[in-house]
Order: sequence, then structure tokens, then C-alpha cells
Amino acid sequence: MPERDEAGLAELYQELILDHYRRPRNKGSLEAHTRRVALTNPTCGDELELDLLLDGDTIADVRFSGRGCSISQASASMMTQLIKGKTVAEARALAARFGEMMHGSDEAARDRALGEARALAGVAKFPVRVKCALLGWNALEESAKASS
Ligand code: ZN
Repeated sequence: MPERDEAGLAELYQELILDHYRRPRNKGSLEAHTRRVALTNPTCGDELELDLLLDGDTIADVRFSGRGCSISQASASMMTQLIKGKTVAEARALAARFGEMMHGSDEAARDRALGEARALAGVAKFPVRVKCALLGWNALEESAKASS
């Protein structure tokens, strides 16, 4: 890929991350939640609480609240978009895929299943920020564990 295109893509991804940070999707809490998990990332000071409403094995609704850096909050926002309506198993598979991307897998970074969360692929180059990006997904993993 020509260098100019890569720079353009990086810019687009940066804008997408900022958009999710400024206008987070599924922000708030669910009074009627099935699962609630709160996690922090002490390295950066990020805080996150994830509420899931399960209908059988399906994630009928999801909300997150918290505060922290743009990476942590944007990643959680992108995640909620992806997992809403999915089964817990499907959501866990996405979490595993996102984890692969955070470990530098180019193949995972090209996986359309990750949707807008692919904008965070570049974070893999910054190990300290990887913890920020994984915070929401780790909360999802904790929620899923509680169900088994
Ligand atoms: Zn952070």
C-alpha cells in the first residue's frame, strides 16, 4: 500500500476513535441488567462498568459507563455496537479476535467481523495503550465467565 494511503487510513481511524470518544454509543447503565462488571486500568486510570441484559444466551442489551482516555472509552463504545444482539459465545469469539489484533495480528486487523473496532489496530504498537483498548473487552470476558 502506498504511504499516502496508509496516512489517510490512519487519519480516518483517528477520527473514528475520537467520534466514539465524544459521542459514545450505548453509554449509561441498565437498571434491569443480568450482569454487571466493573474494571479499572490502574496504568492509565481508566474506569469502566459494563452492564449486560441477557435473553437466554443472547445479549439483548448492553450499556457501559466510565471515564478515562479516548482509547479505553472509544474501544468500549465500539465493542457495545458489535456485541448487541449476539450470543455470549459469538461475543467471546469477537473478544478473542480483538485480542489477536492487539497482539499485532494483521489477519485479525483485516477481519470485517471486528467492524469499526479495527480502527484500533494501530494501538497494538503501543503496549501501554493496549491495556486501555482491552479494558471493555476484558469486562465482557468477566461477564461471560459469570454465566458459565
Ligand atoms: Zn487509557
